Amino acid sequence: MTFDAAVVGAGPAGAWTARSLALGGARVLLLDPSHPREKPCGGGITGRALDLVADAVDARDLPSVAIRSARFTSSSSLDACDVPLEGGALVVAGRRDFDTLLLEAARRAGASVLGARVTAVKQARGGFEIESTAGTYRASRLVGADGANSFVRRQLGEMFRRDQLSIATGFFAHGVTSDQIAIELVSDPPGYLWSFPRPGHLAIGICAQADAGASVAHLRQLASRWIERTRIAPGARLEAYSWPIPSLPAADLERLHPAGAGWLLVGDAAGLVDPITREGIYFALRSAEWAADAIGSSEPEPWRRYVERVREEIGTDLASAARLKRRFFRPGFTRLLIDALRHSAAVRTVMADLVSGRQGYSDLKWRLLKTFQLGLAARFFFDKARHTRRPDRIGD
Ligand SMILES: Cc1cc2nc3c(=O)[nH]c(=O)nc-3n(C[C@H](O)[C@H](O)[C@H](O)COP(=O)(O)OP(=O)(O)OC[C@H]3O[C@@H](n4cnc5c(N)ncnc54)[C@H](O)[C@@H]3O)c2cc1C
Repeated sequence: MTFDAAVVGAGPAGAWTARSLALGGARVLLLDPSHPREKPCGGGITGRALDLVADAVDARDLPSVAIRSARFTSSSSLDACDVPLEGGALVVAGRRDFDTLLLEAARRAGASVLGARVTAVKQARGGFEIESTAGTYRASRLVGADGANSFVRRQLGEMFRRDQLSIATGFFAHGVTSDQIAIELVSDPPGYLWSFPRPGHLAIGICAQADAGASVAHLRQLASRWIERTRIAPGARLEAYSWPIPSLPAADLERLHPAGAGWLLVGDAAGLVDPITREGIYFALRSAEWAADAIGSSEPEPWRRYVERVREEIGTDLASAARLKRRFFRPGFTRLLIDALRHSAAVRTVMADLVSGRQGYSDLKWRLLKTFQLGLAARFFFDKARHTRRPDRIGD
């Protein structure tokens, strides 16, 4: 039998593509050898991501922690600030639980799920031949939803370069939890440390651009020292992990081209991750919906529309984030940021919206300027005010 579409990878992007296609009446094959599995991830799922899957996933069925606040610190400041998060802005869940619910939704919609690894994809007459550890299948369309190390991307497009990836590493700290996320902004290497509480454990990690010169071992040592210094996980059993995250430069995000004749890439495989917060689940789900729309459409070359949509609705904003990233982790900026967070309710609201994905980057400048934290806005957007030690606090 020839399937209408084969989807390689059943993370959020693949399961949601398969479900959307199957609901539209397509015969879909979804291949992934790994389930049930935990994916190295913070597990932070924003309200906007949960909204996208609300008709398939009842949030009450997802074991998760509703986050009450985010604690911000910086390696260049002794101060800390707790930023309240509104109910539902962010929940944290294990990826085994979240991805299983999405996979079940795909199965319920009628997708055929196969626990097999794809080992080769070949363009064949009228579609694709997909070799897997469970046999060879044919499909008219092919979707690569196989994550940051995407096999489909390597076969049909271009593999990620080192400067297009971050390294993330850290520990699951079993036996400890909380209802507060902790984020420490660090300048060497530029990035941040985090602790995301899930039911029964914390996901603790650090990430840095892969070409910044820091090895996995060095980053993991920084995470260990942070755990000791902050006493965030007393007595916990630590389980180490590491995994790449696509973190594309601005020019690449503006020129995204995650598709070709008959094939499309979604989620991490397409490079759709916020280069500052590293939120990827929302973009995985969003691109999945658009990929399914494109495959289901009657246009002659629907992948062109998919590429345009990804560029316009995701690429442009993430490119703004990539341009700001260079300044975001500088000590001068993070010092000002912690100070502004402590003193300005308006800046705390902007930060809460950024963490929960409600604030984009294209209009962040104006939103920050409106808080009247002019030193902060100037340092962030114009790289001026080098000698300003305190923000010019005019009002909240
Ligand atoms: C440490 C870390 C922390 C993160 N924290 C967050 C966070 O808090 N919030 C957030 O939104 N994002 C976070 N991200 C990003 C997020 O994890 C990804 O953006 C998200 O998982 C992307 O979903 P996906 O479906 O595209 O890929 P994945 O979830 O990676 O799924 C890909 C699937 O493809 C399968 N696969 C791979 N190769 C093959 C093959 N050859 N054949 C068949 N199947 C294959 C794999 O088994 C896997 O199940 C984090 C990432 C990391 C590494």
